Formats: sequence, structure tokens, C-alpha cells
Amino acid sequence: MEDILLRDIKFLPSVGPKRAELLKLELKISTFGDLLMHLPARYIDRSSVYTIDSVRRVEMPYVQIRARVVATQILGQGHKQRYVVQVMDSTGVADLIWFRNVAWVQKRLELQREYIFFGKPSLFNGEVQMVHPEFEMPGVAGSASAMGVQGVYRTTEKLSNNMLGSRAISGLVRTLWGKVEGQIRETLPPHIIRERGLLSREEALKQVHFPSTPEMLNRALYRLKFEELFGIQLLLLLQKKVRIDKSEGFVMSRVGERFNKFYEELMPFPLTGAQKRVIKEVRQDMFTGHQMNRLLQGDVGSGKTIIALLCALIVADNGYQSAIMAPTEILANQHYESICGLCEPLGVSVALWTGSTRKKERARLSEGLMSGEIDILIGTHALIEQGVQFANLGFVVIDEQHRFGVMQRAKLWTKNQTPPHVLVMTATPIPRTLAMTLYGDLDVSLLDELPPGRKPIKTIHSYENYRLRVVGFMREQIAAGRQVYVVYPMIKESEKLDIASLEEGAVALAEHFPPPAYCSVVVHGKMKQALKDYGMDVFKRGEAQILISTTVIEVGVNVPNATVMVIENAERFGLSQLHQLRGRVGRGGDQSYCILMSGNKISSDSRKRLEAMVATTDGFELAELDLQLRGAGDIDGTRQSGQALEVKIANLAKDTQIIADARETAQGVLEADPYLSLAENAMLLATVQRIERQREAVVDIELAKIS
Ligand code: ADP
Ligand code: MG
Repeated sequence: MEDILLRDIKFLPSVGPKRAELLKLELKISTFGDLLMHLPARYIDRSSVYTIDSVRRVEMPYVQIRARVVATQILGQGHKQRYVVQVMDSTGVADLIWFRNVAWVQKRLELQREYIFFGKPSLFNGEVQMVHPEFEMPGVAGSASAMGVQGVYRTTEKLSNNMLGSRAISGLVRTLWGKVEGQIRETLPPHIIRERGLLSREEALKQVHFPSTPEMLNRALYRLKFEELFGIQLLLLLQKKVRIDKSEGFVMSRVGERFNKFYEELMPFPLTGAQKRVIKEVRQDMFTGHQMNRLLQGDVGSGKTIIALLCALIVADNGYQSAIMAPTEILANQHYESICGLCEPLGVSVALWTGSTRKKERARLSEGLMSGEIDILIGTHALIEQGVQFANLGFVVIDEQHRFGVMQRAKLWTKNQTPPHVLVMTATPIPRTLAMTLYGDLDVSLLDELPPGRKPIKTIHSYENYRLRVVGFMREQIAAGRQVYVVYPMIKESEKLDIASLEEGAVALAEHFPPPAYCSVVVHGKMKQALKDYGMDVFKRGEAQILISTTVIEVGVNVPNATVMVIENAERFGLSQLHQLRGRVGRGGDQSYCILMSGNKISSDSRKRLEAMVATTDGFELAELDLQLRGAGDIDGTRQSGQALEVKIANLAKDTQIIADARETAQGVLEADPYLSLAENAMLLATVQRIERQREAVVDIELAKIS
């Protein structure tokens, strides 16, 4: 019965083999079912008519207005020629502009007549404009404007050229619907449909393609998004349950000599309350006999490194090895140095493994790892890629997870081994609902307290014309013995974009800060590793006062004496990136500053971002705002994770309420039926298994890529 959805798309009337091939290539539509799930990318609302004044106030992608033509004019010459039609309703005037088909429009639009215009409004000098609007006489039966809410389908240039534009696709879906109506199987059990007041799957699919009203469209989208997110939440909660109930984990029962010695004699500072709490949570996890899978969220500078180290010491005291992985070599080196320094008197053996570790050295390290002589291995993901083997790996720390790829942690141990405990550390504050979906199978710890004595960083937004003042300020700070970061969005000058580049900037800075009185170093992602390390070292040792770089320093770099972070073209960065960059300063006892440089003309979203940066240093607040401003998938890692999670209909960033609803329902279901063994939940079990298979496939693909 459902088989019809598996039928090859070429058998749909008016498709045929050639267009079927194109649909497959361009949109991955191979079957009837694929076409059915090719939902409109957006909708246009032709059920309501807006007044010109309201268009000015509300941001709408496409609207229709009903207005009278009051003046027409041809402006410009040659290919710049355009036809401008001024129209008016009772609330205001708007300019409608055509660059093409001018004669055709001229013939059809009469002065003083009223029309319905449909298009994408924009504001130009405070005036409403529409370029190339569609238009028609009001009140014509069967006309477009009587059609209400319409779906617009994603298509491609190639498809459009082969008579498969949005409208044609809509036509195909209509044909398809005629064949499949009445045969769409329900996928949610009746008790959930009742509880949540959901549309049936069939009704929902019909309404997303052919909405009868905006309200029905919303209900239909809710139903489909809910279903999708609910399946994921069920899977995540089940996985967590299975891990907690069934997985075996090493029992780290001792708090031994080395941990105690370090804690009592070598700690460079007392732990904050939050740090103590997290250590306790980790110790509890490691004691249960089940594998720990914990996410540690702590803002930049909250002191995550020492937690990794303390945990690794507990692990070493219990006779197991630890691996600490950082996303970049700079960071791995930094961790290596600081941890070696701290551990020196303890007799703990620490080693470093990165992409630039030489073959000979690798052989030596491999030996030390296999003999169990090395206690703590610090490295980059080269550690995974090169399949490093341990004698008894008991604990893995993944620092700055979002840089790592969600699935890579799976490759750290082989299937038949007892899995090591895993601590994922991230400085990216992830809004709660998002964390639920991205990391739903992890337990979460929060480091919500900064070490004492930090002065909040002062953030200033400065425009280009105040540059000399900024330079003056940098000089003052350098004269006081401090150091300065200057970060650029790109390395080379670009012809297309008016963006400051690192290369240009370095030249200009050299004029303001001439050697030998000043010393600056340049570090960027395209440089050889050895050069990068050298530059970082010079800066860390305080021999250079200025570090000029791209965002390679975004994550984790720690130079407490640096007090000024200048971010060029700050409007080009996202909020979470700006926040990360700002976190590079304010790490010592001195007052620190973050200066956001921007051009004079910036978009309203950019302005909001920069204002938010000035207003707050709270990473979670900024993350929530980022989510609202940028929406879908632009938060680091969400797009990738959305794909890995097979989220196609819902939007992880925007559908936060639906995520919460889905999670609540999933929790309820699992409370009543922990392993989905009841008959009424059979279809849910099938769904979960299907998603799990898909996710495993994604894991395999990702792993195939890195191995
Ligand atoms: P992040 O969480 O960003 O990784 P780090 O671990 O790099 O933070 O710590 C930032 C700085 O704060 C380091 O210089 C570290 O030595 C210091 N630090 C960490 N914990 C404390 C504490 N409890 N008291 C004082 N300083 C601390
Ligand atoms: Mg860190």
C-alpha cells in the first residue's frame, strides 16, 4: 500500500525519463515519496493585501498591495533605462520599477487605474519600492491573488531551463497527490496525536503543499516538524538510557597520591566553586561502572584546562591513560606546555602528538603508549586520524568540541573495547534547546563562575574615522607593558569586498608601530605550523607587543598579559566568534579592552550584534541573541549537526518551542515504556531504529572521510 511512494519518479505522468534524471541529479528526488517530501522552501501569502504604510513598518519577504497608478516615467539611458511607476493607496505612495519588458508593462498599466501588485518590497531613502512586481486587476475570479497561501519550491537553474521551475514542481506535486491521497500511513501513535492535538500525517502533507489557510499551514508544519524532532529526541533519550543502564565503564575508585599531592601542594590557585562542583560530578560519573559522556560548558576563561588535568590525574592514579585533544596545534602545544609545567614534580609522564610529530618520534611515543609508560597524551585530531593505540585508555578529553565534528569522538575506541570516559569541553555557549538536540545524549556540566579577580572587559565599538585614537590607545597600553591582538577577517585583500585584510593591515600597523621600538608578529591559518608556533611563542614570551592574526587565535589561546583585542571589520564576524575573540583578553589581573572596528555603513543586524557585544559579556545571553539574529544553522556546528541528525524540515535554531515539546513528549513516552516494548509504541521503535541507521550511516561517511 505504501509501495506507491517507492515508485520511480519517471512513472509520474508528465515526468518521463529525461526529467526524472534531472530531478535525481539536481534535487535527489528519485521516487514518488521523495517528491512528496520535497516541501516548499517558503510560502507567499496572497490571502491578504497590505497597505503601503504597513509594508514600510513590517519586514515581509513578499507582499501584495492594492494601489492606483498615479505617475509613470522612463528614467536613464541605454541598458540603465528603467520604467518607474508611482502608485498610491490611502496610506502612502510606492515606486514600482521595471528594468526589462518595459514596453509590455507600459501597454498594460493604465494611469489612474487600480491594480494588485505582488512583489518583494524594499525601502530606499524611506520610500517603499518593488522591482518587477507581478500585477493584475483586482477581483478577477481564479486569479493568482485569490489563491491564498502558496508554496514556492526549491529548484535550480538547470531544472528551470527544463520546464521544472517552482510552478511546474507544484504541478507535479498536485498530480502526485491525486495518486497517493488516502494512502499516507500514520507514523505517530493515536495517544500522541490526541495529546498534542496534531493533524494526521496525511492532512499535514496535504496542507504543507496546498495550504487552505495560513493557520492550517502552521498546524501542518508543526505536525511534520514535531514528528521529526520527536524521533530524534526519542533516539537521544534512549541512547542515553542504554548507555547509563547497560554500558560498561572503567571504575575509577581511588583518589590517589598524585591527585592529592597536586591538589594540596601544586595547585597554582584555589578552585572556584563551579570548578569544584564539576570535578565532583566527573568523579561520580567515573565511579558508577558506566561510561561517562559529559559535556562541560564553560565560557572562555572559566578555567576548563585545570579540570581536564585534575581528572586525568585521578585516572592516572587508577592506572589508566588519558588523551586530551585540542582542535589546533597551537592549542595542543599550549596545553602540553602548561600541563607539563604543572605536572613536573609529580612523576606523571606527559607526551604530545600532533600532525607535525615526526615519524621517529611517533614510533617512540607509540611504544610508550603501548607499554603504559605515558600517562597523559595531548594532541590534535591527528591522534584519531593516525589511529594511535593505547595500552589502557581510560579517559578522553575533547577540548572545543564544535571544531571537532560531532561524530569523531566515536572513533576513539573500537567496538569491543570498554569505552573510555569522555569529557567534551566547549566554550561556545549553546542555548538550552539547541544543546538538547545537539548533545541530547550527553550529561551537561556548567562552569558558570569566572575565577576571582577578573575585571570585566570593556568593549568599545569604534568607527573607521576614529582609528588614530585607537592607535593612540594601543600605544598607551603597550607603553604600560601590555600586549595587543589585532584580528582581521581575511588574509589577502579582496577585489570584490571592501574588507580590511591582514596583509594590508600589517603594513599600516608597521607605520604606526615602527620597529625596532615596536615588534609585531603575524600568525594566520595558511602559514606553516612551525612558523605559527614561532610567532605565538614570541608573543607569549612578551617579545612582541602586537600579534596580528586571523581567527586562528579564536579558540583557547592564553596570554594573560594581553589586554587589548582589536577586531577589524567586526561587522563581518558572528556574535559567537566575536565573543570567543574577546575572551582572549581579560585573562590576567589588568583591565582589558575589546575594540570593535567597523566601517561607517553597516547593516542593521550587524549593528545589533555590535551593540550586544558592547552591552554584555554574558556568553549565554549572546548565544541566544545570535540564534535569533542568524537563525538557521549558522551557529558553529549546527548546520553540520542538523545534517548529521537528519533534520530536514525543522530548524534547530528557530523551532525551539517544538524541540521542547518534542522532548517533553518523548520523556513521557519513555517513562511509561522505557524500551518502547509496548504494542502501541511499535511504530515509534521502528522510527527510532530507522533514524539510528541513518545516523550510523552518517557516522560511517564522516569516518570514511577522515580515515
Ligand atoms: P578556558 O575555560 O577558556 O579553557 P583556561 O583553562 O585557559 O580557560 O583558564 C583561563 C585562565 O584562568 C588561565 O590562566 C588559568 O590558569 C586561570 N584559572 C583557571 N582557574 C582559575 C582559578 N580557580 N583561579 C584563578 N585562576 C584560574
Ligand atoms: Mg580552553
